Amino acid sequence: MGGRTAGSAAVLGGLGMEAMDRLASRREAALEDLVAFLAIPSVSSVPAHREDVRRAAAWLAERLERAGLEGVRVHPTAGHPVVTARSAPVPGAPTVLVYGHYDVQPADPPDAWTHPPFSPRVADGRVYARGASDDKGQVLMHVLAAEALAATGGIPLNLRFLFEGEEESGSVHLHDFVAAHREELAADAVVVSDTPMFAAGVPAICYGLRGLAALDVTVRGPAQDLHSGVFGGAVANPVHELARLLAALHDADGRVAVPGFYDGVREPTPAERAEWARLPFDEAEFLRTTGSPRLFGEPGYSTLERVWARPTLEVNGIAGGFAGDGRKTIVPASATAKITCRLVPDQDPVAVVDAVVRFLEARAPDTVRLEIVRHEADPGVLTPLDHPVVAAARRALAATFGREPVNIRMGGSIPVVHTFQSVLGAPTVLVGFSLPDERFHAPNEFFTLDNFYRGTEALVRLWLALAGRDGAGAADGGAPRGGEKEHTP
Ligand SMILES: [Zn+2]
Repeated sequence: MGGRTAGSAAVLGGLGMEAMDRLASRREAALEDLVAFLAIPSVSSVPAHREDVRRAAAWLAERLERAGLEGVRVHPTAGHPVVTARSAPVPGAPTVLVYGHYDVQPADPPDAWTHPPFSPRVADGRVYARGASDDKGQVLMHVLAAEALAATGGIPLNLRFLFEGEEESGSVHLHDFVAAHREELAADAVVVSDTPMFAAGVPAICYGLRGLAALDVTVRGPAQDLHSGVFGGAVANPVHELARLLAALHDADGRVAVPGFYDGVREPTPAERAEWARLPFDEAEFLRTTGSPRLFGEPGYSTLERVWARPTLEVNGIAGGFAGDGRKTIVPASATAKITCRLVPDQDPVAVVDAVVRFLEARAPDTVRLEIVRHEADPGVLTPLDHPVVAAARRALAATFGREPVNIRMGGSIPVVHTFQSVLGAPTVLVGFSLPDERFHAPNEFFTLDNFYRGTEALVRLWLALAGRDGAGAADGGAPRGGEKEHTP
């Protein structure tokens, strides 16, 4: 936890030293920028804030200009604007796309905040405001890191910036935007800072996300609800038939019983399993967070393996018949279940949905009709751990935080990461600087200023490392594994 030391800074060489010194001498100005950015209530999902979202985009564009970046543009979309910029070209150097979002979640309920959510309050080494850690703080860190390099001899690689204003309302227009601008956004890799560190003082590189496939299943029986006294016993009950179908989807151990569901699933490697087993993961605390009586899951896998590396099929909800107060003696006309599957590499999302549909159709009796509606189907993504960006991020985070970062995956899905993969062919590495307890999406969101300042230094180091300018040799390809001592002062 020693922070910057003479030893780790010395290996940076002139450009890095100057950039670091510049950041260190301008922390107050950086905080003023952050406060100004956070004061704009850019709530993307609330129509009344439409003009505020536009103002935040304009603020960000102006700040990118001031940072010395080129081609700064605010692109209107059918929704909220997209802001792009790039660094001065460096032929032969790697190209990295930086993605983040300048919109925020609503601040409701306002009464739950101890201080107004859009009047940023700086106290206890934190800044409190909606969007502080998710994601304006981290977006600004990227601008500040680029500015520090641009002002002290130049950014040593090709950076492209893509900041959207609809992440908190589903990134509705981003896929089409990326597809329409694929040439100017083309990159060797994408870096996203919109995720937490593993814990305070434990930097993390997230290299894998699960995908998502969704379908709705409706079982239809009679044309309308029927009197159970007149018709009960003579026609099939759709709620019963749906329950029977859903119950067959898993075995008693929690494994998905659909033939073909696990086709293509890539097992975590022995090295991954060993690293995850060493993580400072508190399973009792995880259980407490759930409120469940006991954890449960596929035999043979740890909790982290279950949520990071194994696919799931979840019934998210069931509706059908009468469930209000009192009693209504009917045979319901229909029953519906919403199902989503979290997918891992290398499952084929369409094949998975096909398998589930076949399984249900084969089991549905002819006394009811089955209706299935398919929704999105995005695959899981995994960036190889030997990718140069991962190696560079390891060196940058280790030098900045005084300990080796941990390699993690996440069980969630970020659709835009799949877009970067499918449209740009670029793998994504998630290097985030928030902390898990910073109350994103909740009242009293905050960002830890030490991580704001140090994370900005880490980003400077990341770009230098990727350009082979951090004193560790260009593109050595291999992450130093298990070298805990190597970067520790
Ligand atoms: Zn976010």
